[in-house]
This record gives sequence, structure tokens and C-alpha cells, in this order.
Amino acid sequence: MKLDKLILITSILLLLIFQANSKTTEGQTTKKQPNFIIIFCDDLGYGDLGTFGHPTIQTPSLDKMASEGQKWTSFYVASSVCTPSRAGILTGRYPIRSGMCSDKHRVLFPDSDGGLPASEITIAEALKTGGYSTACIGKWHLGHKKQYLPTNNGFDYYFGIPYSNDMDMVKGKPYQETCKLARVEDFNPPLMRNSEIIERPAQQATITKRYTEEAIHFIENNSEKPFFIYLAHSLPHVPLFRSKKFEGKSIRGLYGDVIEEIDWSVGQILNSLKENGLDENTLVVFTSDNGPWLMFEDHGGSAGLLRDGKGSTFEGGMREPTIFLWKNQLHSGVVSDMGSTLDLLPTFCSLAGVELPKDRIYDGNNLSTTLLKGKISPRNEMIYYRGQKIYAARKGAFKAHFITKSAYGGEDEKVHETPLLYNLDVDPSEKYNLAKEHPEIIKEIWQLVEVHKKSVIPVKDQLEERGL
Ligand code: MG
Repeated sequence: MKLDKLILITSILLLLIFQANSKTTEGQTTKKQPNFIIIFCDDLGYGDLGTFGHPTIQTPSLDKMASEGQKWTSFYVASSVCTPSRAGILTGRYPIRSGMCSDKHRVLFPDSDGGLPASEITIAEALKTGGYSTACIGKWHLGHKKQYLPTNNGFDYYFGIPYSNDMDMVKGKPYQETCKLARVEDFNPPLMRNSEIIERPAQQATITKRYTEEAIHFIENNSEKPFFIYLAHSLPHVPLFRSKKFEGKSIRGLYGDVIEEIDWSVGQILNSLKENGLDENTLVVFTSDNGPWLMFEDHGGSAGLLRDGKGSTFEGGMREPTIFLWKNQLHSGVVSDMGSTLDLLPTFCSLAGVELPKDRIYDGNNLSTTLLKGKISPRNEMIYYRGQKIYAARKGAFKAHFITKSAYGGEDEKVHETPLLYNLDVDPSEKYNLAKEHPEIIKEIWQLVEVHKKSVIPVKDQLEERGL
């Protein structure tokens, strides 16, 4: 065979091999499977970052991340409180489907019996089928009993506290005042490595710093293979703590110090990706589990222009400041279309070339064309649950409230015979009720709720049993 013919055949073969290796299930081409990092805060408000309008909290790393990546201004969590919100992000399904929301107890407690059922597939479990290394660092809150821990839910490694940092409070003390005093000795949550308790009480002043070190360590040790890190900060949930370096740093006070340390942490993680040559192959998502805990006044955050906060189905409870970064891959800019933490599992699976399990209903959409090409988000609807009840639903710009109740410590539940209707594009603060003008939109939103309800199969309430 002539040399030029041999070169031509070899070139065609090499091209075919390259194409076969670089096709994902969505047909996009990538050099190799991307890494994923979710940085998930606890009780951070929509208005608590510089880039989302806070006038005094300094967040240079997150501001830079937003200017280089995609900043989402209508990004929702699956619930306005910790446990169900975490079930939503990790399974891509409304928590009603896994039994991880309840009308009896809003979250899991240290004496709770339940946890995320083994039948649920977490992002970590899905990505493991694609060969990923996985780590959960931070607050878990999906069951502290051994069978429910991260290491039994697809994570190779776990370092963190199994429930909220205000739980296991020393008995006989007034709750709100003790939280505000923020003394390590008043709280007794365990710090765990994998399934072992390594410190009790967890020394919370250095916890953000230590989570950051753990995340960087995991990045360095896994730079040769694809990885997923779920970094769920236990702050700024009260009681508030920060390390020495951040004491008195922010003019916003203690809460500002805590956010500025989290911002520092983001900067450290992004630097580590750069130093390890992984920044162009890692998608980083920053968001929070629910809105600010307003009853804690200056120890709680701010929902900015949004109404109400943690615990409520008004926007302040469930719309979160969200930023995506993937150097030289994302279509950078501000996205005002809807997105949700429910969308991360299908999006990651698509980008990793992992097939989505077909044996269950997913409530998430694949956001990859919005992220990579700036196309319109596939999400156009959101259901707002409080416990197991649907309080509100959004379709396009319009949101109808069927039931309202203020956040913790607020007014009683109010059922609206004629739902309240707001146009969130025009009125994100939910001030001007348009129900009389648009009964046809209320009807449309009712219909989407009816369709959703029919898709829900009743399962055991995992939050119900305590003290067994
Ligand atoms: Mg929370």
C-alpha cells in the first residue's frame, strides 16, 4: 500500500475513534467527562451577595464567578426548609415522591427515625455509574442513622455534620437567645468522617475553613479522574460562627463575616481548580437550600426585594441566588428564565454521558443548552410545597398562591378561595394581586397542579417518626 493511502486510512480511523469517545448522550462533544461541584449554602438569602445587590457584604469571588459565568435570577429550590430541599437537589424529584417532606415535622431531628430511602438515586449514585469519584462535605440532613448517611447514598467520602448546627442544643436553655449567643459549648452536633464521629461538639468556628480544606484535598487527589463534590456548608444557618481571620471583618456584622468567609472559600476552591488544570473541565454551581431565617433578625440574612424568607412559599423562601461557572464553556450572562435545584441531576447526567434512570418520574429538566448555548430554559413551571401540601404554583411569569402562611413565627395558614395571582416578571416582590384581571391564568395554573398531583404516588412519610 502506498504511504499516502496508509496515512489517509489511519487518519480516518483515528477521527472515528475520537468521535466515538467524545459523544455524550445529548450529542454534544466534550474532551472528557466534566467534574461537578455543588456549593450549597444553608439559609443564605437572595439578597446576601454583592452580585445580587447586598450593599455592604463583600463577596468578590462570587461577584467574579457571576461576571465570568451564568447568574440565574429565578432559580428555585424544592422546599423552603433544609431536609426536603436537600432531598430535592440530590434526587431531582420533588420531596413528596421520596417521603422526605411532612406536615408533622418540617425537617429531620436528632431523634428522627427516617431518612432518604435506599430506593432513591442521588446525583452521586447516578454519576458513579459513569465512573465518578464522589464526596459529600458539610451538612447532610437526610438521615443520621447509619443506613442513611452519605456513604450509603453514593458518596465515596463524607466529612461533615449529619444535621443542622443548632440541633443537639444543651437542654434547658432558651432557644432563640442561645442561638444568637453562638457559643460552641451550647451545641453538641457531631462532626463525622465517613460513618465515624471524630469530634463532638463540632468546633464550628473553624468549620467553613475545614470544609474548604477537605474539598481542595479531594480535588487534588482526584485530578486524574472525573469527580463530583457536594459541598453543603452548614452556615449561615444560626448559630453563626466564623474563623479568627474573619472576626469583625464585615461592616454587616457577624452575619457578614460568615458570608465573607464562605466567599473566601469559593475563591480557594476556584483557585485550586485552576492550579490543578481543571477549571476548563469543571462545572461549579453555587446556590442555597432555602431563604433567610428572618426571625433571627440581624443573625438571619436578607431576601433582598423578594417577599418573606425561610419556611415560606413566597419567593423569599424558595428563590435562591445561583451562579454557574465553567471556564470557556458556558454562555456567560444573566439568565432570568426559571431553573431549579431539581434540574441539576438531569443536567449533570447529560453532561457526563450518563443515562437517566427510566424507572421513575423526574421533576428536573436538562439545562445544558441554556448553560452551554444560552438557549431558553426548558423549565417553565414550579410547584411550591409546604410540607406535603401544595401552597402555590408558577407557570411562566405568573404565580398563584392557593394557601399562604408566613415564615416561622408568622401568621396562620390562610386558604384562598380565589388564589392570589402575581406576575413575577413585573412584580417579583409579590405585592400586586392580579387575580381579578386574569381568572384564565389561575385556571391554567390549577390544571398544571392537577396534572402534577396525579403523578404523585403516596409513599411513607420519612420525617413523621421521632424518638423511637
Ligand atoms: Mg436551610
